[in-house]
Amino acid sequence: MKTLPKTAVKNVLIVGGGTAGWLTAAFLAKTMGVGADADSVRITLVESKEIGIIGVGEGTFPSIRGTLAAIGIDEARFIRECNATFKQGIRFNHWVREPGAPGNDHYFHPFSLPSQRPGGPELLPYWLQGAAAPGLGFAAAATMQKRVADASHAPKRPADADFMGPLNYAYHFDAGKFAALLSTHAQSLGVKHVQATVERVELDQQGAIGAVHTREAGVLTADLYIDCTGFRAALIGEALGTPFRNINDVLFVDRALAMQVPYDRPDAPIPSYTISTAHEAGWTWDIGLHQRRGIGYVYSSRHTDDNRAEEVLRQYIGPAADDLSPRQLKLNVGYRDLHWVNNCVAVGLSGGFLEPLESSGIGLIETAAYLVSYLFPHDGDMEPVAKVFNQMMKSRYERIVDFVKLHYCLTQRTDNQFWIDNTLDASIPESLRDKLAMWRTRAPHRMDFVVDLEMYPPSSWQYVLYGMEYPTKQYANGRTLPRFDEARKEFQMIEQMSQRALADLPTHRAMIEHFLQRG
Ligand code: FAD
Repeated sequence: MKTLPKTAVKNVLIVGGGTAGWLTAAFLAKTMGVGADADSVRITLVESKEIGIIGVGEGTFPSIRGTLAAIGIDEARFIRECNATFKQGIRFNHWVREPGAPGNDHYFHPFSLPSQRPGGPELLPYWLQGAAAPGLGFAAAATMQKRVADASHAPKRPADADFMGPLNYAYHFDAGKFAALLSTHAQSLGVKHVQATVERVELDQQGAIGAVHTREAGVLTADLYIDCTGFRAALIGEALGTPFRNINDVLFVDRALAMQVPYDRPDAPIPSYTISTAHEAGWTWDIGLHQRRGIGYVYSSRHTDDNRAEEVLRQYIGPAADDLSPRQLKLNVGYRDLHWVNNCVAVGLSGGFLEPLESSGIGLIETAAYLVSYLFPHDGDMEPVAKVFNQMMKSRYERIVDFVKLHYCLTQRTDNQFWIDNTLDASIPESLRDKLAMWRTRAPHRMDFVVDLEMYPPSSWQYVLYGMEYPTKQYANGRTLPRFDEARKEFQMIEQMSQRALADLPTHRAMIEHFLQRG
């Protein structure tokens, strides 16, 4: 990296107005403050009306609640304006084995952590030894969330405060409406909005960004440029040529077909989890919003073709898809090792994308926005800041790749080359192979993770690992663990508490309607 002359950073130009652009704008404006006086930071966001946003990205991770609270959007407004619903986790259908094969046909990744009474035993080792009811998966045994979600109940009650509830949760929402809400909100916080298409990016003598030339608004300059131009990566990629690490050899899906599907009746129950169903060359997402479902098939173009993919999607949806046409998206799966180069930082799809399986896209935007604002190089000394930012983002991407691959590489499916190829050692990163090797003889533990660098907590790994029926042969000497009876009682208690929760928590649709009426 070249050394730049250090001038105070006062002007920030965000290029792109999707979730990445507007969320970063709102986060910076709220946490640093913006103003017109000489000492304040000024934030401008330029977006092209004609290019538009990608408009998918409807599932989130629980971190979104903290982000909404941090930027000052209340929960009722968010739910009302974004057509949002609650997401308590993900149900994975047919990931372990093909449809019709004997054995469990699904598992659940809940967002609530395993129940842990202070001083009580850690439940996973005891679940592995059979202390829970026979046949009960780890997620169903260790938290009440699966039962609550299966019964279409909400994770919270009307009396609970904004962003709080007895169960952990995120949201599903309409991506277009979310960008619009963020845009209004960021502008109310002082962010200046320019509608113009960037036609050329000018580099200065040091190879940093000198200016962007727009069709409608002339030349725009700044001290720091934030590239939120999506897969186009107009600044970090096209202008600066920062290398992109393609990881299609690990994560194979590279195409998506998406549809918006109406409910068959207005009072249909709304699932409070994403339904991810494995198919012959990829998987479908099925997300219930208040007035419609968002459904898409993500697949590997090396293992199927577009026509067959559309057939699979239509078969999944049924007659409701008859009059609808899917939208096709090509995915650049991978990331840049350097997200911050000179005076340019990439946030969102311009920095990377790791397929939508565990909704990492928006979570990574939240992390990046948080880091830019807290590391903000007020004095213009970008180099140390860029170093930290790049290390943090790269580590996160690497760990998410491992976590997403975990869902694929443990499959027992052999019905299609896609699934067979996913289990080949050559497609599994060494870092994941090492973890799996350790977990053959002991359960994963939080000490296996550097929590600050992980997007997903250790419990998420545990839910997926044992949802995929990983055969940990714990304590090979066959000894019973010392708190076995205590653990058995804990599991029974969780079952009883689930019954109480079902009586206490409203249905998901009723809870959403409560928010709509509140507005
Ligand atoms: P975009 O939405 O593409 O926005 C780019 C912006 O840049 C637009 O405003 C555009 O007008 C502007 N722009 C581009 N070029 C120029 C130019 N030359 N001049 C001016 N402006 C320009 N993430 C999740 O967290 N959960 C999910 O469930 C999920 N599902 C996904 C499913 C699919 C199929 C895909 C492809 C992605 C999914 N993602 C998901 C990722 C998520 O959609 C993105 O991370 C998120 O929408 C952010 O996109 P973005 O803002 O980076 O890019």
